Amino acid sequence: MPISKKMQDGINQQIVNELFSSNAYLAIAGYMDSQGLKVLAAHYLEQSAEERTHAMKLLHYLLDVGASLSIGAIPEPQNKFKSVEEAVKSALDQEEIVTTQINDLMGLAHTQKDYATVSFLQWFVDEQVEEISTASELLQLVRLAGSERILLVEDRLMKTGTAPLATKEP
Ligand code: MG
Repeated sequence: MPISKKMQDGINQQIVNELFSSNAYLAIAGYMDSQGLKVLAAHYLEQSAEERTHAMKLLHYLLDVGASLSIGAIPEPQNKFKSVEEAVKSALDQEEIVTTQINDLMGLAHTQKDYATVSFLQWFVDEQVEEISTASELLQLVRLAGSERILLVEDRLMKTGTAPLATKEP
């Protein structure tokens, strides 16, 4: 097998981690919708769909290198939030966890001199820079606006094009 058993297990676990992220974003989208924040809901639905594509990229890599796919149980994400700020913060926390997971996988690939996997994982390393940046900016905006003026955040998201104009199916 071109990748080690440990790397295979790590990538299988990361598929579960990305699917967990995808579900966590669905839960946040549901909360935003329940608060009447349709633009934020759409933003998180889009994030959810993106996380699923990350899982699929990992899945295809395992298949491409002839490793075995084994999908584990996906834990339940946080479904209840006390405020918009808490929900937005939870998204940033989740992206920070994923960044650590990706870095750990990259560390393993380097240790094993598995340069094919190093090259493959570089995309995820770069992607996490974007994810953290997007999640941090949104949290900053939410804090700036405060709960009274949360609609300003939706206006900004519409103007900057980081969210679709209406809720759509992923
Ligand atoms: Mg991801």
